[in-house]
Amino acid sequence: MYPDADLSPALLGRELLVDLQSLGMRMEEGLTEAPSRRGGAGPSDHKAVLIDGIAAMIPIHTGSAERSPFMASRPNSSGLSILSRDGFQMGSLSFPKQPRFYGLQTLDGIPYSMIAVLHAADVLATTVIQTCIRYNNRATACQFCSIGQSLDAGRTIAHKTPEQLAEVARAAVLLDGVKHMVITTGTPNNKDRGAAVLCDSSFAIKAAVDLPIQAQCEPPDDDLWFQRMKSAGVDSLGMHIEAVTQSVRMRIMPGKANVPIDRYMRAFETASSIFGRGQVSTYILAGLGDSAENILQMCSDLIAIGVYPFVVPFVPISGTPLADHPAPSPAFMHEVLSSLGIMLKQNNLRSAEIKAGCGRCGACSSLSRFEV
Ligand code: SF4
Repeated sequence: MYPDADLSPALLGRELLVDLQSLGMRMEEGLTEAPSRRGGAGPSDHKAVLIDGIAAMIPIHTGSAERSPFMASRPNSSGLSILSRDGFQMGSLSFPKQPRFYGLQTLDGIPYSMIAVLHAADVLATTVIQTCIRYNNRATACQFCSIGQSLDAGRTIAHKTPEQLAEVARAAVLLDGVKHMVITTGTPNNKDRGAAVLCDSSFAIKAAVDLPIQAQCEPPDDDLWFQRMKSAGVDSLGMHIEAVTQSVRMRIMPGKANVPIDRYMRAFETASSIFGRGQVSTYILAGLGDSAENILQMCSDLIAIGVYPFVVPFVPISGTPLADHPAPSPAFMHEVLSSLGIMLKQNNLRSAEIKAGCGRCGACSSLSRFEV
């Protein structure tokens, strides 16, 4: 809770956000029909909200969100929704409007929203290949991932072509003012691990519109791919370790755990030398079993080689094997993020200086609020 009456509004907002992202939020009946993110690669089952004008992703479709003490009311005529905790009003929030590019479709009739979606308030995101070599086998699949759900539900297409991505990116910039783009992919093979399609996609998008791009993939077999991605227009790169200790990696992502952490560290170093300090990042899901100490040690090692460790609270996604796994407690997140914020500040590594991607967006975590 927020016991310290001396907390500034900014700090109060930070504590509130830590609680909201761990505990989730219930929505007054009918509100969950408003745009939210269900299924897809990586974190999901969120809804974007604006608190003090800053976008944050809050779990709303999860089991823990159903039991959350937080409740958002239906927005009033000004678009403001009252946020209450255990019936006590905490303040107000609003929801980003449905983007205008969602109303368009390609000449062959594919809605733009099936090619790329709006994340937070100003990020365009796509999963270029909506399948993964590991996903259909429980012995190899990452247990937190729902990459097949949105495909099965008909909300996306399996492979987005470079031309389709370029068309949608241009429209999203012109109609909705998106500021940067995330292009991620399921892992299509054990060689380039998606780097080739990310190059093709980035090249086409950059030819169509001036939009900073973050590409996300596993470390490819050949480090030459980093230079190729950079030459194709990728500004920032994400390679996501998700969990930091080998026992947790083996339990949560038995296939991906076969890529040793050492391989990630070598890939981070090479990629950093190409993309620049602070332009390579990784996603770490707190709450899967790694201790705060282990997460912080990994973050310290990453920061030492100029890699931004984007630590987010794990969100248990419906329909995945981890649907009933508890989300991390607010106290755990506070312990990790407060120490990490100090480390980032001491090493002059800041989310605001990342050109594109999750670290710059920051909406899935309250980390950036601990950097100040
Ligand atoms: S942090 Fe990444 S996954 Fe989360 S909303 Fe932003 S762009 Fe999307």
